[in-house]
Amino acid sequence: MITEFEPGELPDSGRPEGWSPADSAELYRVEDWSMGFFEVGPTGHVMVRPGRTSGARIDLYEVVQGLAERGIRSPVTIGFLELLKVRMLELVEAFSEAIATNGYKGGYTGVYPIKVNQQRFLVESVETLGRALGFGLEVGSKPELLAVMGMTVDYPDRLIVCNGFKEERYLRHVLLATKLGRRIVAVVESTDELDLLIKVSLAAGVRPRIGIRLKLESIGRGRWRHSTGDKAKFGLNVVEVLEVARRLEAVRMLDCLELLHCHMGSQISDIGVVNAGLTELTRVYAELSRLGAGLRYLDVGGGLGVDYDGSKTNSEFSINYDLLEYANTVIYRVMSGCDEVGIPHPTIVTEAGRALVSNHSVLVTNVLGVNRADRWSISLEEARATLARMEEVPRVLDEVVDALASVSPDSLVEAYHDAEQAREEALTLFKVGLFDLETRCLVDRLFWSTCLEINRHLLELEQVPEELQELDFKLSDTYFCNLSIFQSLPDSWAIDQVFPMMPIHRLDEEPDRRATLVDITCDSDGKIDRFVDLEDVAKTLPLHSLREGEEYYIGIFLAGAYQWTLGDLHNLFGDTNLVYLTVGNDGRWQIDEVVEGDTVSEVLSYLQYDPRALFQAIRRDCERSMRAGQLKVAEGRALLEDYERGLTGYTYLE
Ligand code: PLP
Repeated sequence: MITEFEPGELPDSGRPEGWSPADSAELYRVEDWSMGFFEVGPTGHVMVRPGRTSGARIDLYEVVQGLAERGIRSPVTIGFLELLKVRMLELVEAFSEAIATNGYKGGYTGVYPIKVNQQRFLVESVETLGRALGFGLEVGSKPELLAVMGMTVDYPDRLIVCNGFKEERYLRHVLLATKLGRRIVAVVESTDELDLLIKVSLAAGVRPRIGIRLKLESIGRGRWRHSTGDKAKFGLNVVEVLEVARRLEAVRMLDCLELLHCHMGSQISDIGVVNAGLTELTRVYAELSRLGAGLRYLDVGGGLGVDYDGSKTNSEFSINYDLLEYANTVIYRVMSGCDEVGIPHPTIVTEAGRALVSNHSVLVTNVLGVNRADRWSISLEEARATLARMEEVPRVLDEVVDALASVSPDSLVEAYHDAEQAREEALTLFKVGLFDLETRCLVDRLFWSTCLEINRHLLELEQVPEELQELDFKLSDTYFCNLSIFQSLPDSWAIDQVFPMMPIHRLDEEPDRRATLVDITCDSDGKIDRFVDLEDVAKTLPLHSLREGEEYYIGIFLAGAYQWTLGDLHNLFGDTNLVYLTVGNDGRWQIDEVVEGDTVSEVLSYLQYDPRALFQAIRRDCERSMRAGQLKVAEGRALLEDYERGLTGYTYLE
């Protein structure tokens, strides 16, 4: 007998009675991807441990509620500067240890590429925290350079690496910064850029620090492997490198060539790629030194990866190495390459971005509602009773009821075929006018009921028949989240990036649904159906049934890199609220900075609408309607006030 239809239900975990927060931690694999910064607390809430093992921990759910009390509503991005500090420290420590262990004679400098997250407060914090750690900054455009020049007035000695396309004005800014005493390097991406740099430097009488970006032959692996190789967008091949050296020598500026740079691509999953690339890079460094270049920095670029899926493998969303192995690999390869030809060890520069900032912030969204696949299901008894009341039962209806009745562990595929066939026939009959809407709906409900019943059996099977493998996904719930994926998680939409996600509360309850997430944009691409999984990528996320009158919050983790400025204004949903918090030793948190999310007026203004003019137009319209007697004065006033509040309100659902 068919008694229930619970498609989103998770298979029986085989765990003893009762569900504990530890079960949730295991289910969402928190320990694997969180790097110790997040955990599930005894109250079933996500806890943040900014100092990892040391220092206090705070309750993320309480933070979200506390922010809401202050009027800072979801969706909200919450940044923790301590997390950033720990990562910066760990990077420097890993290189210090590798330098000491290998007996390396050169130094190490990290530079933060600000394009990874340009939020002023974050970059200023990197700059401030980086003072003691010798961190510099990397820029890839004129606006980024102008921001960094203004930000480094008090500490001019920090390394500034300038990448990206450069015209004359960009290069003049570099020369101005050089005159102001900044340790700034213009990395030349082409021979034309070099000629321009030589021309403007000679005209200004400035001897700039010059770098060159090398296109490695040893192509990496993974999504960003084309950042290098013959067809790479940036950099010089070996022929051009030699040409640059000759042109610099001709104008007696070869000593200005201080830095050799390469970027092997972002999110390098396999340490073997670093090994191979660095061997080639160091050889070119050694040859340029032999030719008389004033080289002293070897910049190995970004690429230090993040273990998004926690698998610790060389899969696309993971890495098969840790910080120390990375540092050891870099130091050892450079050292042995230099020792072979007897040249001094350079200062190693890294441009790690995502590895520093991905985990410093959490995006929290509230769920607005859910579409459950079982909401229209019908039991066999109910279906039979309905058929019994009909004067004449169409054959197709009989067949789909039979399909539902026939579901058993041995007949899953056959029952599915029968139900599918009946549904197709019902559609044809409806199209030619032989079925009315009620009959077609009944067939549809019976079809889904059959699928739900089949799926209940599938959850118990070890091997799901191929034809039915998508069923579980098709029957999963859809949770509507107060969020724009295009604005806040562009990589999820554009490049199928997977981010860890989980509810931030109710983790002492067993999740009873499986779901995909959709955002509130009017775009069918605004969905998430790729989730962290050990084996592969999971298509659904375990979640809890919603409770009447209670907010349900989902946290999206490791999204602190690249997402902020890559986001767009699709459907005019703007930036989310953003807060930076610090956590005291007593476990109390305080807000350091609030960047309020865009208001409706702001996003309208970005696209040249004039909110005042819009308001005046509506005011005139109200007056006209009042004159015509369509609107009472009080109604007109209320309408106008509402319109005005709408303009100053949040773009997300309030
Ligand atoms: N440096 C350069 C030149 C880059 O293009 C990038 C990113 O693509 C980075 C550094 C930062 O890379 P990642 O965030 O992978 O460390």
